[in-house]
Amino acid sequence: MTHSKSLSDRAGGSLAGIAVLEGSFACAKSQILRVEFDSAKPAEPSRGFPLATPLSAAKGQKAGRLEYNRRPSRHRRNSVKSVKRKSPKVGFVSLGCPKALVDSGFVSLGCPKALVDSERILTRLRAEGYEVAPSYSAADLVVVNTCGFIDAAVDESLDAIGEALAENGKVIVTGCLGAQPQKILDRHPQVLKITGPQRYEEVVAAVHQYLPPKHEPFVDLVPEQGIKLTPRHYAYLKISEGCNHRCSFCIIPSMRGDLVSRPVGEVLREAEQLARAGVKEILVISQDTSAYGVDLKYAAQPWRDVQRRARFYDLAAALGELGVWIRLHYVYPYPHVDQVIELMAAGKVLPYLDIPFQHASARILKLMKRPAAAENTLERIAAWRRVVPDITIRSTFIVGFPGETEQDFEELLDWLRVAQLDRVGCFEYSPVEGAAANALKQAPVPPELKAERRARFMEAAAEISARRLRQKIGRKMPVLIDRIDRDADVAVARSASDAPEIDGTVRIAAAGSAASILKVGSLVDVEITGAGDYDLEARLIAPIH
Ligand code: SF4
Repeated sequence: MTHSKSLSDRAGGSLAGIAVLEGSFACAKSQILRVEFDSAKPAEPSRGFPLATPLSAAKGQKAGRLEYNRRPSRHRRNSVKSVKRKSPKVGFVSLGCPKALVDSGFVSLGCPKALVDSERILTRLRAEGYEVAPSYSAADLVVVNTCGFIDAAVDESLDAIGEALAENGKVIVTGCLGAQPQKILDRHPQVLKITGPQRYEEVVAAVHQYLPPKHEPFVDLVPEQGIKLTPRHYAYLKISEGCNHRCSFCIIPSMRGDLVSRPVGEVLREAEQLARAGVKEILVISQDTSAYGVDLKYAAQPWRDVQRRARFYDLAAALGELGVWIRLHYVYPYPHVDQVIELMAAGKVLPYLDIPFQHASARILKLMKRPAAAENTLERIAAWRRVVPDITIRSTFIVGFPGETEQDFEELLDWLRVAQLDRVGCFEYSPVEGAAANALKQAPVPPELKAERRARFMEAAAEISARRLRQKIGRKMPVLIDRIDRDADVAVARSASDAPEIDGTVRIAAAGSAASILKVGSLVDVEITGAGDYDLEARLIAPIH
C-alpha cells in the first residue's frame, strides 16, 4: 500500500486540502459536473487526476451523452482550497495545538445535493475536532460520498471506493450508492461501513467507531456557516430530500425515498447564517423544489417574528428578505410557480428558473411519467415572460427515449424554437438498472439515431443561446465575480442568468487595472460589450459591494 496519492490529485487541483468530486446525475439529470473548489491562487495544471476524464467528460457523456449549450468550462477546473488556509481558526489549531488533530479524508461524488450532504457531515466532524486531510496518506480513514443515479455513476463510485481502499485502506461509504450495499460489497467487501443517503448520523457514528474523536476545545470551533465546500461567496441550500414522483427513467425515489421537506424555520435559519457569513448567492436545491412542504402540510414556523409556511412561495419570499441572490433550481411548471414569478418581478429572487422539462411530446412525457406533463408549458413560459421579460430559463432534455419517433423529436425541436430557452442541456437516453422505463414495451432508439438527434437539438439550442446573448450587448447589469485570471487579465463573473458550473460566464476585461475592485465574491456593475455562443464579454462600470 502506498499511501502517497494526494486527495487533491484526485480532484485535479494543486493545493493541499480537501478534494471534492462532483458528478451530478441529479433530478434534472442535467449535470455531469465536477467541482473542485476555489483557491486563493490560480489553479496549477492538473497532475493526472484519475477520475477527471471518466467523470467529467468521457464516462458521463458516454453514458448519458450529456451536453450543455456551453463550451467546455474553464472554471470547472478550479483548484482545491486548503481548509487550513481558508479558516483562521483552523489554521491556528494546525499551527501548534499540542493535541494532535484527527485527520479524515473525504471524497464526494454526485450532484449538488450530495455536496450538501458532504458539507453537513464535514461540518459535524469538524465541529468535533476532526481535520480534513490533504492526501490519502495523511488521512486516518476516508469517507466516500457516492452517486448512484446512472450506471456510469455507479462505476465511478465503485472505482473511487477501490482507489481509496488501495491508497488508504480504511474506507466508509455513504451517499446514494449506499442504498445498494450489496453492489458495493460484491466489489469491495473490505469497506468498514456503508450508509445510505442523508444518513449523517450513521456516517459520524461510523467515524467515531473507527477513529474516535480527540476532544480539543479549540478545534470544536466551526465557522458559523459550517464547512462549505463551495467557494465562500455562494452556497447550496437543500430544502428537502426524496421525491413523490415516479418518472419512469429515474431510480432516485427508490434510493432516496419520498419527499421529506426540512422544516421551514430550520431552512431559513441556515440561509440566514449563510448570508451573515458573507455568502452572496444561495442556490436552492432539492429533487422537486416546487413541491416543498407538501409532506409537512405546509406547517408554519416562526422566523424573524413572523409565521412562515413551509410552502414554495412563502419560502422563496422569506429568502428574498435576506438581500442576497436567491436562485431556484429543480422547479416544475405547476400553476403555483406563477406566484414566484411575481417575486422575481419585485427583485426579491433572481429572475432565473431551472426547470427540467425533459421533453415536449405529450406522448413521450406520458411514457416518462413526468410531473406537470399535462401543463401547457409554452403558454406558461410566455406568461412568465410577460411579467419578467428578462427571466432566464434553463432546462435539460432527454432524446432517444424508448418509443421516441421522428415526429416526437420534431415536436420537441419545434417546442424549443418557440420556447426560446436560454440554457439547455441534453442527454441521450440510457437505461438505468431498476428503472420502470426498462419494462416499457417500446422500441429502443438506435444509438446512432440518438446521437444524431442530440446533435440536432444542441445545434438549435446553440443558435437560440447566441441570439439571446447578442441582445444583451450594450446592457448594464450586476455580476458576481467567481475568479480572477491574472494571466489573461480578466475577471470571470456570472450574471443573474448564470448558475455556477452549469451556465455561461461574463468575462470582464482589464482586470489588472481594477484589481482593488475586482475581487472574488465581489458584486460589480458591468456593461456588456460582446457575446459568444454561451459567454459574455463586459467592461467594469462600478463596484456594488
Ligand atoms: S422521479 Fe422524476 S421528479 Fe423525482 S427525482 Fe426522479 S426525475 Fe426528478
